[in-house]
Amino acid sequence: MSAPRRFGAIEAGGTKFVCAIAQEGGDLQDPVRIDTTSPRDTLDAVAAYFLDQQARHGALDALGIASFGPLELDPAAAGYGRLLPTPKPGWSGADLVGPLRAALGCPIGLDTDVNAAALAEARLGAGRDATSVAYATIGTGIGVGLVLRGQAVHGRMHPEVGHISLRRDPRDQAFAGVCPFHGDCLEGLASGPAIAARYGRSLSELAPTHPGHEIIGGYLGQLAANLALTCSVDRVVFGGGVMGTPGLLGLIRRAARQRLNGYLQPDCYREAIDQFIVEPGLGTLSGITGALLLASAAADASLRQLRASGMLEA
Ligand code: ZN
Repeated sequence: MSAPRRFGAIEAGGTKFVCAIAQEGGDLQDPVRIDTTSPRDTLDAVAAYFLDQQARHGALDALGIASFGPLELDPAAAGYGRLLPTPKPGWSGADLVGPLRAALGCPIGLDTDVNAAALAEARLGAGRDATSVAYATIGTGIGVGLVLRGQAVHGRMHPEVGHISLRRDPRDQAFAGVCPFHGDCLEGLASGPAIAARYGRSLSELAPTHPGHEIIGGYLGQLAANLALTCSVDRVVFGGGVMGTPGLLGLIRRAARQRLNGYLQPDCYREAIDQFIVEPGLGTLSGITGALLLASAAADASLRQLRASGMLEA
C-alpha cells in the first residue's frame, strides 16, 4: 500500500496568506500566517515555508491555492494563474502559480477563496447533505462561491456576486455606497467598510434596536433569495466577520423568505428556511480546507494525465 499523499494549502488574502500542509484526509499541520506585502516578497516567503516542510517531511504531492480575486482561471489563457486588475496595490497581474510551481515542482490547483470555501462546505461542512451550495463571505468585501451538483462554477472567469444590484431599503436612500466601481452594489451597501462608513461603527456595536440590523439583514436576505432564484442552490452558507453580529442570521432568513414569498417549491425556502441559510460547518477553516481539496484534485488530474500519456501504468 502506498503512503498517504501529502498536500500543501494556501488561503491567499489581501492582508495575509495562511499556509499549511496535511496528509490526505488528515488535519491541517503547521499552519503559518504570512503578511501580504509585495507579490515577490510574499510568494518568496510562501515558497520558503513549503520548501522547509518538504525538507522535513518529504515532497508534496500537490499544492492548492484558494485566492482573493479576480483571477484568470482559464487554463488555456496566457495569463492563467494571475490576478486580474485588483484594487490591492501591486497585485494586478501578479502570477500566483508560476513562482510556486518553479520552486516546488508539484501540480498546483487554483480557485477563488470563496469557490474553495464553497467546495469545502459542500463536501465536508454545512452542505454535506445538500446538492448545490453557495458560500457567501461578508467582511471587508463580499464574495460568493458556488458549487452546483459538486462542481465549482466557472464561466468566462468566475461569478462576482458581491457586486450585484439590489432593491434599496426605504430607510437607506441617502447612503451612496462604498464600491469604487458601482457605489451601491451589494458590497457597496453591506460589507464591513460600508457599514462603518454609514454608521461610524460595526454592526455588532450598534444597539440591538438600531434599524441598521434590519437594513443589512435585508440586503443579505435579498442575496440569498437571488441565489435561490438564479442558481437553485439548496443551501447558502454565510461566513465572514460581519456574520459575528448576534441575530443577523435570523434577519437574513426572514428577509429571504419575505422576498421569495412562497414562490419556489422546495420547503427549504419557506418553513425550513433555517436549513437554507446557515452558518459554516467548518468555522473559519472553510477556505484553507477548500485549498486542500484543490490540491487533491490537482494531484488526481496530474495522475490521469500521466496515465493517458503512457508514462504511468494504470
Ligand atoms: Zn461593486
